Amino acid sequence: MALITHSGGSQVYNPLESMMSRFNEAVRILGLDEQFASVLKAPDKCVIVNIPVTMDDGNIQVFEGYRVVHSVHLGPSKGGIRYSMDVNLDEVKALAAWMTWKCAVVNIPYGGAKGGIKCDPRSMSKGELERLTRGYTLAMKHVFGPDRDIPAPDMGTGPQEMAWILDEYSKIHGSNSWGVVTGKPLVLGGSLGRVEATGRGVMITARSAMAKLGMKPTDCTCVVQGFGNVGSISAKLLAQLGVKVVGISDISGGYYNPEGIDVLAAIEYVQQSPNRTLEGFTGGEVVHNGEFLLLPCDILVPAAMEDQITPLNADKIKAKLIVEGANGPTTAEADAILNSKGIMVVPDILANAGGVTVSYFEWVQNRLGYYWTEERVHRRSDRVMKQAFDHVYAASEKYKVDLRIASYIVALDKVASTLKLRGSF
Ligand code: NAD
Repeated sequence: MALITHSGGSQVYNPLESMMSRFNEAVRILGLDEQFASVLKAPDKCVIVNIPVTMDDGNIQVFEGYRVVHSVHLGPSKGGIRYSMDVNLDEVKALAAWMTWKCAVVNIPYGGAKGGIKCDPRSMSKGELERLTRGYTLAMKHVFGPDRDIPAPDMGTGPQEMAWILDEYSKIHGSNSWGVVTGKPLVLGGSLGRVEATGRGVMITARSAMAKLGMKPTDCTCVVQGFGNVGSISAKLLAQLGVKVVGISDISGGYYNPEGIDVLAAIEYVQQSPNRTLEGFTGGEVVHNGEFLLLPCDILVPAAMEDQITPLNADKIKAKLIVEGANGPTTAEADAILNSKGIMVVPDILANAGGVTVSYFEWVQNRLGYYWTEERVHRRSDRVMKQAFDHVYAASEKYKVDLRIASYIVALDKVASTLKLRGSF
C-alpha cells in the first residue's frame, strides 16, 4: 500500500489504491472479464484547470481546480466539490469512482464524478470565494450540465457555493438551470430534507444492521467521530432511536461520557461557539483523538474524514458495528482485521448514500418544478436506504463476503451490465 503525504505533513493511505483493491476483489468474485473491468478502472475524463482570482489585496492568485468524471453509464455524473489544501488528483479520482458505486448501490440513475480546488477556504474572504467559485464554473462550463455532470457540496463548500455555481452557469447558458447543481439553498430550488439526508441514511442503515445482529437500539452505546453535518445528525437521530451516544468528537478533540451525552446540547454548543467546534464542551471528559476510536461502545460512526481506521488501530476497536458516515474512513488492510474480529462494517458507499439520494430527489423536483414535503422526502429516502441495505446484505450472504465487498459487487454488477448492453467500444 503506497502512502501519500498531505499538506499537514501527516502520512495517509492513498484512497485511490484503497478503492482499487476493493474493486479488484469484486471483479474477481463476479468473474468479470479483466479487459472489460479496465474500462471501469479509469475515469472517463479528468479536467484540470487553473483559475486566476483577483484577491482582496489586488494581487492575482492562481488556483488549481479538478473535476473527474468517472462514469456516465447509468446517467449524468454526480458528485461534490471539495475546497481543501489536501485536494489532489488521486483523491479526486477515488472519490469520483466511489460516487459511481454509491449511486449504483442505491439504484439512482447517475454516474459518478468529483471535483475539488486546492485552496484554504477558511483563509479566504466571501468575495474571494465567490470569484473562485465563478471562475471554476466558467472553466467547467462544458463539463457541468443538468444532463451531463451535476456538482454538489462536499468538505469546504455548502449551499452558498452551489448558489454561485447555479448563477454563473445560468448566466453562461442564458437561462436559469436549477438542475445543474444540488445542495442549493431552499429558496433557489433546494430540497427539504437535504441537510439531514446523509445522517438520516446512516441512522437507517445502522438500524437495519442492528436488527441483523440482534442488537436492540435501547441497549446500545455509540461513539461518533466528526461533529459536522454527517456526524452531528447521525448522533442526533441515533439518540432519537434510543441509542446512548457516549462519545462525540471533532477537530478540537474527543468528549466521552459513559452516562450519555446530550447530543442536542452539543449541537447547540457548536452553533453558539465562535469557531463552530466542540472546544470547551463540558458534557464529557476530554479524550485525545488518537484514543477516541478505541472507546468502549457497541456502534462506531466515523463521520469525519478518510483513513481513520488503519492497521495501526483496527485491532483495538471495541465496537461490534461500524457505520461509515465519512467517505473512505477505513483502509483496505484494516478491513481484514475488522473482519477477523467479527465486526460488521456498513461501508461508506452504502451508509452515507442518503445524501446523494436526496440530491437526486432535489434534481427530480427541479425538473418537475414541483416541490415535495419534508415528510415525503424522508419517507422516500428511508425506503431507498432500507432497500439498498437489504440488497447488499443478500449479496453478502450469496457470495459469503463482508458488506463492503458485497456493496462493490452490487454496484459493479449493475454498472457492468449497463456497459455491456450499451456496448460501443
Ligand atoms: P463537515 O465539514 O460538516 O464536518 C466534518 C467534521 O469532522 C467536523 O466536525 C470537523 O471538526 C471534524 N474533523 C475534522 N478533522 C477531524 C479529526 N482529525 N478528528 C475528528 N474530527 C475531525 O463535513 P461533513 O459534510 O459532515 O462530511 C464528513 C464526511 O462525510 C466526509 O468524509 C464527507 O466526504 C462525507 N460525506 C458527507 C456527505 C454530506 O452530505 N455532507 C455525504 C456523503 C459523505
